[in-house]
Amino acid sequence: MTSPIAIRDLSARRGEKKHGWLTIGETASGPLRMPIVLINGREEGPVLCVTAGVHATEYAPIDAVMRLLTVLDPERLHGAVIGVPVVNMRMFEHRTGFTSPLDGLNLNRIAPGRQDGSISEVLADILLREVIAAAQYHIDFHAGDLGEQLLPFAGYSLTGRRELDAKGEALAGAFTPRLISLSTDDNMLPPFPGSLNYAATRMGVVSILAEAGGNGTLEEQDVQTHLEGAESVMRHLGMIDGHTANGSRIAARSRTVIRAKRSGLVRIKVGIGDEIRLGQEVAEIVGVFGDVVERVTSTGQGLVGLIWTHKVVNTGDPIVRYWVT
Ligand SMILES: [Zn+2]
Repeated sequence: MTSPIAIRDLSARRGEKKHGWLTIGETASGPLRMPIVLINGREEGPVLCVTAGVHATEYAPIDAVMRLLTVLDPERLHGAVIGVPVVNMRMFEHRTGFTSPLDGLNLNRIAPGRQDGSISEVLADILLREVIAAAQYHIDFHAGDLGEQLLPFAGYSLTGRRELDAKGEALAGAFTPRLISLSTDDNMLPPFPGSLNYAATRMGVVSILAEAGGNGTLEEQDVQTHLEGAESVMRHLGMIDGHTANGSRIAARSRTVIRAKRSGLVRIKVGIGDEIRLGQEVAEIVGVFGDVVERVTSTGQGLVGLIWTHKVVNTGDPIVRYWVT
């Protein structure tokens, strides 16, 4: 598969690494562009696309993809890598979480996008058709966004196509340190419809979600989780040398959000990755006069997968989300 690889006018022959910009559209301050790296290996092999910065305040995955694209040596690579270290540059430069400042859309809710849509929808369309579709495999790197601490996991959206799904499940298993989330149309697990992963798998690309890090931080441990996961996937695909470690994986069955009923300051009593049981106190909410107004307890048994970092809640605000495994 690895004769020259090209995206528009950017191309890399065997043994070459190239980078450039892909123009999405125009804004008042100039073109909206996406950085692209092409690494074409000397040896035959599959094409893997790696994307980060769909949510551009998720810094650990962005740094991991930047580093991966820097260290990969085309002379030793089997196959090719197409990389986008920051998909959403306008969110990156503005340090904006979740949604684009250009049109208020969350890129991971609107895939596959549309050619005649607003600029984030055009971005989704170009990214899927011109970049991700040029690969057989795809990893979309994420973390918890602003205000979210997260337990690392990998996800794949099942399509019902057996051969594709077997590859997707294996890829997610190769990436994840522990937890794997296989979504169907009715189990309410990620990746969801509207995500890049969901759209990419429906185009026949083996596309997984890779999550580690969060809350606007850039911690070395989270970067390493992403890097080790990416390298494990590449070894699994025979793109780089070495063997994939086969650790034990836990499959998610569902996940549940525990919310506040009362308002006040929140004192969290659990940590990311903790096993919690039904009725266990996960937080207390304290009124402004210092009295505990609510002891928030777990609605079931599971693994703490996300803690919201907001320290004040109102009725209905999320506090903890746990995985049921
Ligand atoms: Zn994200």
